[in-house]
Amino acid sequence: PKAFSAPDYYLLDDVLSSEHIMVRDAARSWVNKAIIPIIDEHAQNATFPKQVIGGLAEIGAFGPMIPENYGGAGLDYISYGLLMQEIERGDSGIRSTASVQSSLVMYPIYAYGTEAQKKHFLPKLASGEYMGAFGLTEPNHGSNPGGMETKFKDQGDHYLLNGAKMWISNAPFADVAVVWAKDENGRIHGLLVERGMEGFTTPETHNKWSLRASATGELHFDNVKIPKKNLLPGKNGLSAPLHCLDSARYGISWGAIGAAMDCYDTALRYAKERMQFGKPIAAFQLQQKKLAEMVTEITKAQLLAHRLGQLKNKGKASSAMISMAKRNNVAMALQVARESRQILGAMGISGEFSIMRHMMNLESVVTYEGTHDIHLLITGADITGIPAFK
Ligand code: FAD
Repeated sequence: PKAFSAPDYYLLDDVLSSEHIMVRDAARSWVNKAIIPIIDEHAQNATFPKQVIGGLAEIGAFGPMIPENYGGAGLDYISYGLLMQEIERGDSGIRSTASVQSSLVMYPIYAYGTEAQKKHFLPKLASGEYMGAFGLTEPNHGSNPGGMETKFKDQGDHYLLNGAKMWISNAPFADVAVVWAKDENGRIHGLLVERGMEGFTTPETHNKWSLRASATGELHFDNVKIPKKNLLPGKNGLSAPLHCLDSARYGISWGAIGAAMDCYDTALRYAKERMQFGKPIAAFQLQQKKLAEMVTEITKAQLLAHRLGQLKNKGKASSAMISMAKRNNVAMALQVARESRQILGAMGISGEFSIMRHMMNLESVVTYEGTHDIHLLITGADITGIPAFK
């Protein structure tokens, strides 16, 4: 049988609402139809499948938690998580596009923007008419974004922006970028930089072995004139971008489970069918150990994500709680992908199966939105009160 069957060992479906199930199942069948058949070719050719944008908007993946009066889907955080899980079951790169659009572009406009900015940008971003990017990382500042060098100056009726961002998802085709830059006093603010502004260019980053179906690029600002109405006035300082990252990291903690579920399910089905020494390889203890450990780790990650979703819905999920789930669940998915690949033997390296693509994608997921190391140090700082990375 070819059909994907999602592992739900602890019957978490029982605690989902009918709305959660509806959102999840709609996303799952859309992924089967719109992503699975085309994704290998796009990953092999390193092209972003632009044709999925309309479908992502339709399943509510652009701004699931943004209220409906701004074009969002008005869903809770468990639905948001389930959407990310389903999309990443298809591909981490497509999930990255949805995460950036929702948590890193729509969320800051919604939370820190003016009414005029919200009315202008949010409905267009929700429908996919506009695509967004989030520019925080710079060539010299990754884990330490507070050191950023991109700056803007007040020129009376506008701001003048200079600097560069690197490793920016969606950059090559984004219509608008939420860019974090320092004012003359060194204070960080968010600016909405729009395609077509003079001096703003977005060169694509080539030769990636990971997230090949996602377009990554740079943002260059060479004396870009930014109208004053394009500054996000609601929040400034490093906590403004970090707060957006909390929302995206939360989604990633669910998304990674999707990639792991796909790898596990593929490996389980393969192990039951592949015959060696006159038996299905699933009959050998070593393969059972791999599969049993995988489903155990997936189940633990599902419980972590679900409880985190409940806390997020109540406004009780701290940044440190989110770090723990992002770190654990992405590392889990990477481990599951590596073990699953071995179960498929040589077939595991083929694009006919999704596993090697997931595995390579997850190498980015374990690094972006806070590296595996940095999230551990966030937990360390939270429990000891002593930050070891500053
Ligand atoms: P560095 O910060 O140089 O870290 C290198 C290594 O040193 C890591 O292992 C790290 O854990 C370790 N390290 C660093 N500091 C410490 C410390 N204090 N203690 C112990 N170890 C430490 N950024 C955006 O702004 N927007 C995007 O859309 C975006 N998309 C991305 C897409 C892809 C495909 C990739 C790969 C990256 C993307 N990023 C994006 C950038 C990403 O967030 C950064 O790569 C990440 O924050 C790490 O920064 P760095 O690569 O500069 O690594």
